[in-house]
Amino acid sequence: MPGYDFDFFVIGGGSGGVRAARMAAGHGARVAIAEDLYLGGTCVNVGCVPKKLMVYASHFSQDFEDAAGFGWDVGPRRHDWAKLIANKDTEIARLNGAYKSILEGPGVTIFRERATLADAHTIAMGDKRVTAESVLIATGGWPDIPDDPGVREHAISSNEVFHLNRLPERVIIVGGGYIAVEFAGVFHGLGAQVTQLYRGPLFLRGFDEDMRVTLAEEMRKSGVDLRFDSVVTRLEKTADGLVAHLQDGSTLTADCVMYATGRKPNTQGLGLEAVGVELGRKGGIVVDDAFRTTVPNIYAVGDVIDRVALTPVALAEGHALADTLYGNTPRGVSYENIPSAVFSQPPIATVGLTEAQARQRFTGGVDVYRSSFRPMKHTMSGRDERTLMKLVVDRETDRVVGCHMVGLDGPEIIQGLAIALNCGATKAQFDRTIGLHPTAAEEFVTMRTKAPDPEDTERQAAE
Ligand code: NDP
Repeated sequence: MPGYDFDFFVIGGGSGGVRAARMAAGHGARVAIAEDLYLGGTCVNVGCVPKKLMVYASHFSQDFEDAAGFGWDVGPRRHDWAKLIANKDTEIARLNGAYKSILEGPGVTIFRERATLADAHTIAMGDKRVTAESVLIATGGWPDIPDDPGVREHAISSNEVFHLNRLPERVIIVGGGYIAVEFAGVFHGLGAQVTQLYRGPLFLRGFDEDMRVTLAEEMRKSGVDLRFDSVVTRLEKTADGLVAHLQDGSTLTADCVMYATGRKPNTQGLGLEAVGVELGRKGGIVVDDAFRTTVPNIYAVGDVIDRVALTPVALAEGHALADTLYGNTPRGVSYENIPSAVFSQPPIATVGLTEAQARQRFTGGVDVYRSSFRPMKHTMSGRDERTLMKLVVDRETDRVVGCHMVGLDGPEIIQGLAIALNCGATKAQFDRTIGLHPTAAEEFVTMRTKAPDPEDTERQAAE
């Protein structure tokens, strides 16, 4: 568009912004991106990637136990936290460089500055002003920590947890979502004494109840002090450490208190309201199906729109937007059957509906298949960690509408099943599929016994 410095200006260099910028540039648009913190955003720097590295690091404590069962003399073990963090930082720096290259390759101009909107077509960066025909807001999210006394002062969030100088001996984790259970496992595996506090009766709200119950059992068995219906009212720093005061009057003392109580869209101070971009619940940007905000030339994707805060979703949204605007392929994003995993220990992986959601949606009834077993890898050491797998089937159509697993390798298995669900696979088609032996995955195609239906039992009791 003559008159504008760029066709497309992206504010935010995380998963969604980078994908949109490089795809748009690949389609021939003149593109710029501004990022003042780190290229790759939360996922690469203080999220999925370093988290997974730390999950791997911590899981070795269990792997050493299994190894002994297979005849290995693993000898005395000692973990070097500083080395883990340094090696993790080296890997993250490599990825930051890779993100820079994939932007520069197709010709995206990178501004390492904070950008705000001066008007709908003008972006301010310090004293500089640049103009663009279209603007994408992809500024992600930020940890949301409650305002209770002492909490913001003394607790850390997932922003700080990746940069601690040493492994704390005693850790309290507040929250019952993805990040809380993942870090309970990381700290526990590396040798810390972990207490996880969740305010409700059972953590991981929104996941299938069997998975939540099983994970809670497994975490407790492994030694995590998991406490439900526990509410922290304030934090206090004492000579002995950080003291958490609980609503029931009790206290807990730790060296580190981590709050993982959700994330909120990063929309403050960007000049959005002044140019007329509407913000919704929790400050998320309101967009239509084409990711257009209430200002026609301004778009938004990723965590900042507060739909599904997952990296692959932000990638899909950014890609669809670039194809729509510059690739002559207008398209949206389907939010059906998004697989997701919690990298707890053992991990949870899931796609489709939970049993409760399916029972609500399908009036003709739901069939449930479960399989619970001890993974072969643990049989030699006798390590007592179980796997649970579950299929949820719409009885009327025989379609598999939910696959859930808690156990070793779950995230690697569920990705493939997400394809099957998106293709509308039926239970009969699962049954016709030959298993891959010997794996845990084969259980998903060999489950034949329906679990007793609680609705039938209720009906019979009423008759
Ligand atoms: P979640 O939304 O998953 O969980 C937040 C947890 O904090 C819930 O258990 C919630 O309880 C609790 N909570 C909220 N407010 C308070 C409060 N004031 N006091 C005490 N507890 C509170 O957020 P996370 O921070 O764990 O993660 C943010 C998002 O990042 C996730 O939702 C997910 O989309 C993404 N993510 C994805 C990962 C993955 O794919 N593996 C890994 C990490 C993050 P309640 O349920 O009662 O509301």
